[in-house]
Amino acid sequence: MSGSSAHARRMKKTRPKRTPKRCPKCGSHEIVPIMYGYPMPEAMAAANEGKIKLGGCLVGERNPQKHCKACGTEFDFRPLQATRRPRLKK
Ligand SMILES: [Zn+2]
Repeated sequence: MSGSSAHARRMKKTRPKRTPKRCPKCGSHEIVPIMYGYPMPEAMAAANEGKIKLGGCLVGERNPQKHCKACGTEFDFRPLQATRRPRLKK
């Protein structure tokens, strides 16, 4: 029995996509994530402490994921359903 080893895995550097930690507008680090959907008690408490921002239940097509507490800018827009990936060909 000859077992051909499936060693064809590419050594890919798995870089976790980090969201920007700074406000693109004012450069502040006072960035909190925006939570959408039904506000759980924990989320409400965190929002009261200023740890997160509640985006509410109204979810649109694209929602900002980050909120700058310094200037109020909301950024890091991304589609909620990120299953479809546009192919970028150069
Ligand atoms: Zn800002």
